[in-house]
Amino acid sequence: MPRLNMPRIGFGLWKIPREHTAASVVEAVRAGYRHFDSAADYANEAETGEGLAQAMAEGLASRDDLWVTSKLWNTFHAAEHVEEACRKSLADLQLDYLDLYLIHFPIALEYVAPETRYPPEWLHDPDAAEPVMKPARVPLHETWKAMEALVEKGLVKQIGVCNYNSALLHDLMTYATVKPAMLQIEAHPYLTQDNLIRCAQGYGMDVTAFSPLGAQSYFELDMAAEGESLLGTAPVMVAAQAHGKTPAQVLLRWGVQRGTAVIPKTTKPERMRENLAIDDFELSAVEMAAISSLNQNRRFNDPGVFAEAAFNTFHPIYD
Ligand code: NAP
Repeated sequence: MPRLNMPRIGFGLWKIPREHTAASVVEAVRAGYRHFDSAADYANEAETGEGLAQAMAEGLASRDDLWVTSKLWNTFHAAEHVEEACRKSLADLQLDYLDLYLIHFPIALEYVAPETRYPPEWLHDPDAAEPVMKPARVPLHETWKAMEALVEKGLVKQIGVCNYNSALLHDLMTYATVKPAMLQIEAHPYLTQDNLIRCAQGYGMDVTAFSPLGAQSYFELDMAAEGESLLGTAPVMVAAQAHGKTPAQVLLRWGVQRGTAVIPKTTKPERMRENLAIDDFELSAVEMAAISSLNQNRRFNDPGVFAEAAFNTFHPIYD
């Protein structure tokens, strides 16, 4: 089912503290990760680049062994800013090409010059008394055409999108000359996204599941309630016991076995190894179905919710 030769387990870099990022990246390469999921917005691309450079200098991996993804931030959607944003990520990552470059959100925000603030984040005027997001009048097809130019220039090998729904994918396919290679979306047993995954795969796209451990990433942000963890749910626990694996390994295995790539984040070396060690067991059809039946369409990463709570701006993209 996977179409790209992208390692099916990647290392997620969101919320890795800047001061720990370089060491975490080196540790992750040492643990066996060859796929890194970065983004300008994670505010640690320069440190990710340091870590990758150090790992390569130590001979742990070569550039050809690595798959590095980055993402175009919302403030760079206008055609004239896409290449600038990509080149900034490349410079920070100390790379001359990306394996994959994704539109981070189907949300265009007013441009913020890197000299003013980088990464620009969500707020247009963070120092104002009542700061807000400032949407920009940039259509997604303009952004996609500029993404295609990056492929033509050899700056990126593949391009794709994040956080699109199926209606946006149908639209994208009407004008894409370079076909989108990847859809990256939140997916875990509480948000299985079966139709969207089927739609993307039907268009020949590969799918990456972000936040594959569900609520775990969102407790620290107060975006998940106590009791929403998937780790202690019965079908996950039962499968974990049956295979002598941890609940996290079962969740990641479920994600890979249903045909998505997974990109778990951790700051802990022992969890890096744990999250990678999922190739030595297989969930049965019954176990897969039991885990999938946990679905409740619970989305933890929803701009329609967090942008209002944190950025004083109601900007839904999922209805
Ligand atoms: P995640 O990887 O599902 O979960 C990370 C959380 O789980 C952290 O709190 C981590 O804590 C904990 N954890 C990791 N391994 C564990 C294990 N074996 N057992 C128990 N807990 C464990 O969530 P995520 O970081 O939100 O998503 C993964 C990656 O997807 C991100 O890093 C980012 O690269 C990408 N992403 C993309 C988007 C997008 O819009 N495209 C949005 C969100 C995320 P410790 O660090 O303390 O181990």
